[in-house]
Amino acid sequence: MTDRGSQHRHCPVCGKTMGAEDRFCSKECEDALVKQRKKQQRTMYIFMGVLVVLFLVMTMAGGQCPGLGTK
Ligand SMILES: [Zn+2]
Repeated sequence: MTDRGSQHRHCPVCGKTMGAEDRFCSKECEDALVKQRKKQQRTMYIFMGVLVVLFLVMTMAGGQCPGLGTK
């Protein structure tokens, strides 16, 4: 690990150099990341919902059709 000595960070959105205390180079980039996070979160909720539905369907199907998955 090398210490470059310069106190600066890079914007996680566009990669631009910025001050060490800044989290984003601009308000636009912050909004972009927040939007992206929300989208990811929504996708995860949908995915989890699909998994739960799949699980319920499989459980019900297994109960109604014994022998289908046992062999
Ligand atoms: Zn940026």
